[in-house]
Amino acid sequence: MTDSDSTFDTEVYYDDDADRAQIDDKTVAVLGYGSQGHAHAQNLDDSGVDVIVGLHEASSSRSAAENDGLRVETPAKAAAEADIVSVLVPDTVQPDVWEDIREGVEEGDTLQFAHGFNIHYNQIVPPAGVDVTMIAPKSPGHLVRRNYEAGEGTPGLLAVYQDETGGAREEALAYAHAIGCTRAGVVETTFREETETDLFGEQAVLCGGVTSLVKQGYETLVDAGYSREMAYFECLNEMKLIVDLMYEGGMGEMWDSVSDTAEYGGLSRGDEIVDEHARENMEEVLEAVQDGTFAREWIAENQAGRPSYTQLREAEKNHDIEDVGENLRALFAWGADEEAEAESDEE
Ligand code: NAD
Ligand code: MG
Ligand code: MG
Ligand code: MG
Ligand code: MG
Repeated sequence: MTDSDSTFDTEVYYDDDADRAQIDDKTVAVLGYGSQGHAHAQNLDDSGVDVIVGLHEASSSRSAAENDGLRVETPAKAAAEADIVSVLVPDTVQPDVWEDIREGVEEGDTLQFAHGFNIHYNQIVPPAGVDVTMIAPKSPGHLVRRNYEAGEGTPGLLAVYQDETGGAREEALAYAHAIGCTRAGVVETTFREETETDLFGEQAVLCGGVTSLVKQGYETLVDAGYSREMAYFECLNEMKLIVDLMYEGGMGEMWDSVSDTAEYGGLSRGDEIVDEHARENMEEVLEAVQDGTFAREWIAENQAGRPSYTQLREAEKNHDIEDVGENLRALFAWGADEEAEAESDEE
């Protein structure tokens, strides 16, 4: 935090900013043993923090947690014993899990999240006297675990929604330290900012925007008589090369790496494709996130058994590009095998 003020618009915390005494004598219940849960639980355990994994009796994740040498209890029992309850079950089931555990979450305890949806949209209303914080690693769990084991860190977000003890931020920082996030840097945000930017990003740009761009490009080429294979290569497969370059060195490195023809064509035509109309649509998507319209729709969709979601998934699965892709990706099977091998070697 100390020397970063001029570099970033927000506070960034590192190892030196954390006081591990704020967590070393506490018990943490990690609810869920999926992507984030397995990584938080094992990193905390390796850091010497007392961890209990909370899973239902019937959960198929129980044996995994036990094989990793962790103590497993029901979510209710784990939460009752713990000082900090880290809620790492899927966002859609968190409100139900909260009903299961609320009795054991007492004054002075902490409810901790890795995403703000349920708190921000009031699906979980925390009681007075309980601290509510967020430590959200900016990576899938397997990288949070792998980086920690390699002595490296994973950048993360920190937010405090409710600080009833006066020590919420310090305790969250100690948690971030114990899972390795302060090794890389922890950026301060709020539950509102994290939730709204996350939803906007995945809808407008990442998951929604990118797939629509790819499909429209593919359809344009195929409708004009080009082969489906060429359309797939140019509009989907090569996306990875471009995104990898932007991830490494921003848009500048991508523009430097492509041909001058691609650079001129892209610079002069990009804004014609994703134009001011797309920008207006993005503003509407953002508004629906901000005023809770999207959240209400998604909650109702889940309560109704996901009828629209199921239809949308089905339509996407049946898109022509998926068919072509399956056949073409088989040609690259050697690449997939190598990647899978490298992955299992590292774990
Ligand atoms: P996940 O889907 O990988 O795992 C959830 C785990 O919860 C399951 O493995 C299981 O152990 C348990 N679970 C599943 N259904 C349950 C139920 N009905 N009742 C009780 N337990 C159940 O979840 P995840 O992706 O690790 O997400 C956990 C939290 O972390 C979410 O709030 C998510 O938004 C957040 N997050 C995820 C990522 C990520 O990369 N996956 C990154 C940052 C934040
Ligand atoms: Mg308790
Ligand atoms: Mg506490
Ligand atoms: Mg998200
Ligand atoms: Mg090309």
